[in-house]
Amino acid sequence: MKNRDERIKKIIIDEKRLFLEDRIPSEYKHDEYVTDTGSLYGVALPQNKEEIQQLVQFASSEKIPMIVQGAGTGLSGATAPQGGELVIDLHLMNQIVELDEDTMTLTVEPGVLLGEIHNYVEKRGYFYPPDPGSKHSSIGGNVATNAGGMRAVKYGVTRDYIRQLDVILPDGREMSLGSLNIKSSSGYDLKNLFIGSEGTLGVTTLIKLKLIPLPKEKRSIIVAFETLEHATDAVLTILRNGIDPTTMEFFEKEAIALSEKENQLDFPSQIGNAYLLITLDGDSRASIESRLHQLNGSVRQHHALEVLPLTDPKMEHTAWFLRDQLLTAVVNYTEQVTLDEVVPVPHVSELYHYTKELEKESGLKMISFGHAGDGNLHTCITRGDIQDEKEWQEKRDDVLDKLYGKIQELGGLPSAEHGIGIIKKKYFHKMTAPINIEIMQQIKKVFDPENLMNPNKVL
Ligand SMILES: Cc1cc2nc3c(=O)[nH]c(=O)nc-3n(C[C@H](O)[C@H](O)[C@H](O)COP(=O)(O)OP(=O)(O)OC[C@H]3O[C@@H](n4cnc5c(N)ncnc54)[C@H](O)[C@@H]3O)c2cc1C
Repeated sequence: MKNRDERIKKIIIDEKRLFLEDRIPSEYKHDEYVTDTGSLYGVALPQNKEEIQQLVQFASSEKIPMIVQGAGTGLSGATAPQGGELVIDLHLMNQIVELDEDTMTLTVEPGVLLGEIHNYVEKRGYFYPPDPGSKHSSIGGNVATNAGGMRAVKYGVTRDYIRQLDVILPDGREMSLGSLNIKSSSGYDLKNLFIGSEGTLGVTTLIKLKLIPLPKEKRSIIVAFETLEHATDAVLTILRNGIDPTTMEFFEKEAIALSEKENQLDFPSQIGNAYLLITLDGDSRASIESRLHQLNGSVRQHHALEVLPLTDPKMEHTAWFLRDQLLTAVVNYTEQVTLDEVVPVPHVSELYHYTKELEKESGLKMISFGHAGDGNLHTCITRGDIQDEKEWQEKRDDVLDKLYGKIQELGGLPSAEHGIGIIKKKYFHKMTAPINIEIMQQIKKVFDPENLMNPNKVL
């Protein structure tokens, strides 16, 4: 034991970047979503690729399991300790390395925060579209979870903007995945295997992101409806009519009311019970005006009560701020479980309707919001004022079983963007064909035969 401590202290000499035994800060020992976490061997904060490689080689030779951590905003328990791991925290690897305007790529270290990337490229006329609500998440974490967010309906998800990844495998070998070439039919796509693998296959040490030109114009619009069913039905019409929205967020009035209360701000529309918050972007004002006109016609077919273009920047900022704060507001309101399920877009209405049936049946309040344009809901099952722990757990688990059953029946998936981690494993395995799980387990063995990289997560 002492010998291995001496070895790691030679890799990370700076005491402020290595924590063993009782020096481990408490925030690494627990996870917001998983309470019964295990102990840790230690926490190391490398500052460069060489240190990561030496840490991985050390842990591999000592058979110490590893958890890679970015900004720790994950919502699936994927960084929750299981017992005896070394946490490799990458938040000090936060350099923007190079903007290459010829290939329109940005090279970044994995600890750079998403919000910093947005600011950096937008100041220079470029656009990195993936847009999870958590602007304080790291790009390494975004790659590992294939993060989605608001703009996926038009621009896609993190996977669509990764040109190249440098990774360290669990045995310490280095690999470069992908390339600057726009096309490839050259063998198996290992880069895409790595994206969304939740730190179970290795450590990402450098990322080349694809950029696109920043659209010149954008406009946000709130559309208010009497019911959320009207709002979700309108989504299909908007998509079919070629209006090409950049975002199409939906939420109930009672969800946004929690955010209003938490932040002491008023949402710009107070009519109706459900909203779509839509953005249109493009290169000319005329294109936006003409699509806005089409949007008006489309949503009126679904009994829209109000179409409110947010021309005042302050109003627009308030609307988006309250939307971004929605999850935090629900979390602060009461104990809850928040899902990130996805169903084919035509089934969003049916799934939402089913959550309302479950609400009546179980007596548990269900709050719904999400990215309606890509069928990704965030259904929150809330505890409310149930005092008895056993009663809450039984009711919650019964609702979860039924809800995931319905998602499967509708052809959906347990996770659209947060990942499986540990908390969705049971449902992931239930909802996935055994042969698919078996092949994933074999792939994991090829990369990580000793099962050292984030063990017990996903599979
Ligand atoms: C308020 C709030 C809103 C959110 N909104 C969204 C949203 O709209 N869309 C969305 O997709 N997510 C959202 N999330 C979830 C979360 O922010 C994302 O999952 C994010 O990608 C996690 O990044 P992170 O840096 O915090 O990663 P962590 O939580 O630190 O880690 C997440 C996973 O990534 C792995 N990992 C991290 N860095 C690396 C690396 N360099 N190499 C290998 N593996 C690595 C970890 O091992 C773990 O499995 C939200 C979270 C919060 C708290």
